[in-house]
Amino acid sequence: IELNLVEFVKEIIYEYQLFKIAKREVDFRFVSDEIVCNVDIKLMKQIVLNLFSNALKYSEFPKPILISFLKENDSVIFSVTDQGIGISKKEQKLIFEPFFRANNVENIPGTGLGLTIIERAVNMHNGKIEVLSELGKGTTFRIVLPCNN
Ligand code: ATP
Ligand code: MG
Repeated sequence: IELNLVEFVKEIIYEYQLFKIAKREVDFRFVSDEIVCNVDIKLMKQIVLNLFSNALKYSEFPKPILISFLKENDSVIFSVTDQGIGISKKEQKLIFEPFFRANNVENIPGTGLGLTIIERAVNMHNGKIEVLSELGKGTTFRIVLPCNN
């Protein structure tokens, strides 16, 4: 369905109960607040919530979370950045595998399936996902979605 991604993502985030409880600041950045894209609503919601909950879970209060949108040719680039624990270079190659969890998350609960679901949902949109991360500094997940309009 055709929808305005910026509005859609903002709505999902502001309705997310854990985020309200965590009282974490979210910084939204976009060049245009009207980025219309053809997406599957349920899958898109899974992508946004899983990425956002990782950002919250793997960073500490009061570190803010940045959500940004960029347009590039016929694509939208959606990214979520945290200033959290980060992922080692070696482990960055493994995080999309089902049940994989990095060494530095032993004390943080999770099943290791969120990113597997996200990758699948991104592929179903013919998109791409990549991770940029540095241990102890933070992480950005970047999703490129084709968006012909
Ligand atoms: P869940 O299935 O509940 O999402 P999870 O968060 O452990 O559990 P994934 O979301 O698939 O599973 O993430 C896999 C692993 O990748 C995590 O266990 C963690 O090691 C690493 N990871 C993912 N996102 C981040 C992040 N933003 N910062 C640091 N590490 C991350
Ligand atoms: Mg997760």
